[in-house]
Amino acid sequence: MRHAADDEVWLEYRRAKREWILLWLAWVPVGAVVAAIFGMNSLVMGLFVVVYVSRFLWVQRIWQRFLCPRCEKPFISGRGWSGVHDLFPDRACKHCGFPEYGPLPPVSLADLQSLPRSDGD
Ligand SMILES: [Zn+2]
Repeated sequence: MRHAADDEVWLEYRRAKREWILLWLAWVPVGAVVAAIFGMNSLVMGLFVVVYVSRFLWVQRIWQRFLCPRCEKPFISGRGWSGVHDLFPDRACKHCGFPEYGPLPPVSLADLQSLPRSDGD
């Protein structure tokens, strides 16, 4: 069963991924419009490129630094572009195979055993 908490965990990941894809798809048309209005060599065009690329890399960083809810390692492994390319085919944690947007894992037996015991008084 899905809980609200499951969606909350993935909120940052989902937002970053959506924005990354949007920015990736939109840079040509948006850049073309800016270039058409202000010209390729204008200051505005230069500023647009700097701001757009900065935002793109920032969003990519958030996406790549998201930790898997189960194993707490980076959900998309790899650095730079490798992690992003890896993500599209299988959409699961590269370390433990936890599915993208999967429900939170239940508390494992190992977690319970690591808790301090109260073996009676
Ligand atoms: Zn994992």
